[in-house]
Amino acid sequence: MAPIVLRKGRSVALLAVGVGLLAASLRYAETLAYMVSHRQQTFQWMQWVPEQDSPLIPVLRANFRDALPVGAIVPSLKRWLVPLGIQPGNTLFGHSVCSDEINHGPEDVTREMIRYWGNVFPLGGIGGAPFVGKTGFGAFSGHVPDGGHIFILFGPHVGISPDGQVGLYHRKGQSKPSGACGALIGGYKMLSSGTRIAADDMNDIEEAWLCSKLAPHVENITAADNSMAELVKVAYHVIEEEILRITHTRFGNGNLVLLGGIQINMPEPYQDHFLPMHFSVNGAGKPQVDLLKVFFGDF
Ligand SMILES: [Zn+2]
Repeated sequence: MAPIVLRKGRSVALLAVGVGLLAASLRYAETLAYMVSHRQQTFQWMQWVPEQDSPLIPVLRANFRDALPVGAIVPSLKRWLVPLGIQPGNTLFGHSVCSDEINHGPEDVTREMIRYWGNVFPLGGIGGAPFVGKTGFGAFSGHVPDGGHIFILFGPHVGISPDGQVGLYHRKGQSKPSGACGALIGGYKMLSSGTRIAADDMNDIEEAWLCSKLAPHVENITAADNSMAELVKVAYHVIEEEILRITHTRFGNGNLVLLGGIQINMPEPYQDHFLPMHFSVNGAGKPQVDLLKVFFGDF
């Protein structure tokens, strides 16, 4: 009978441990949910994000669920990069974002970054692709302080109109919303209608490049629940692929930090949002450190 008693005792002990772990994970989930809702309430109080009953909330939830207001981005990355020694003074900042002026206003993520890092080397062109290419990255990385680091923000952008339409943005001084990102939407419309810019048109190089990259995805974009949201997500992956192709860590002993995502141009009075999709630290001969999770709950 002894072994049976022992097995029973062990089962009871295992059950107790299981119950304890379940209770702990429930408490953690509750705490996390509280923190997330508390953070959201703070953002609403500061008018960084729309109120809960705003028609913009379901649009954000359905299409860009984890997007954060721009004001939350720099504090989040600072907290993780400073302990790694990556900070203003020893880091060069570059961004690959669309030339559209709505991405470069005083409240935008690009300006927040410039204010923090104290410098910028623009790498992008229309649509947000890194059109400076390998040569441009070579020049940029050659300017890094001795032993210093590189931080690159990259990604496309998309507007949301005051009534919640994705792909539209109401610009100051205009009577109605217009397309954002115009370069991506223009390329998609051209491709959908069966036309495209000749690849050798030296007077429209950037748009021709965007069209060539979007072309294989046109059917999927059209079939999506929200084609404009799908278009910017496809563009993000195209841009990320190109960023990974032209960058490297052979510029010195420092790290290459990449922050990729989708910039969402929000209607007044809300802050623009940023949906982080890639956050990594890469050093020559070192394994990549994935920090994306710092934006989602661990704050
Ligand atoms: Zn644009």
